[in-house]
Amino acid sequence: MEHEEERQRLLSSLREQGIGEKVLEAMSKVPRHFFIPQKLQSAAYYDSPLPIGDKQTISAPHMVAIMCDLLGIRRGDVILELGTGSGYNAAVLAELTGPEGHVYSIERIPKLAESAKENLQKAGYNNVTVVIADGSTGYEKHAPYDRICVTSAAPSIPKPLIDQLKNEGIMVIPVGQYTQRLLLVKKNTEGSIEETDQGGVIFVPLVGKYGFHIRE
Ligand code: SAM
Repeated sequence: MEHEEERQRLLSSLREQGIGEKVLEAMSKVPRHFFIPQKLQSAAYYDSPLPIGDKQTISAPHMVAIMCDLLGIRRGDVILELGTGSGYNAAVLAELTGPEGHVYSIERIPKLAESAKENLQKAGYNNVTVVIADGSTGYEKHAPYDRICVTSAAPSIPKPLIDQLKNEGIMVIPVGQYTQRLLLVKKNTEGSIEETDQGGVIFVPLVGKYGFHIRE
């Protein structure tokens, strides 16, 4: 397969960083170069974020791996992702939930959503639906979700996301403006929330009703 050597090198490095085998196996199946602009193909398997246009980025592989690991995705989970970007993270989520599950991925920038749809189709993922919308209000249509993965930073945890998470569901979300923290949010059987801080991160902002209000 194309880029095989770089891909194996990346996977070994993620394994050394303590990423679990399930996530490594999923990442080994997703061709990251399908989700990277043509002129950056040689950097497709670097462990760094890369620009994808419209001032947005595809997250670094270690960040995708950490978030997916924290989510503990099971086969058949119904997953909400906020911030489709290139579609790469959605593809990894789709591998983890398998054909019996589904990923609803929301992107506010139509051009990115359209190219993500093409990337996902080219890579063969039929269990991802990309929706153009403000994801800061969640996606009521298919709620509640087993897992929610937010790939842009919110000022605080949007209330609709907590409401749309199933009891015993798990969400990961970066929160903060100048300094951001990755939060792991777990809902228990009675519906109350427990948050744990997983460390400092850097993400583009979540823009929208429950996100930042940025003038463009
Ligand atoms: N998950 C992506 C990938 O695998 O390429 C990377 C996501 S990028 C770091 C963050 C994305 O969130 C951007 O594409 C941005 O346009 C999107 N975004 C920001 N605010 C949003 C909102 N309110 N609703 C949906 N998408 C949003």
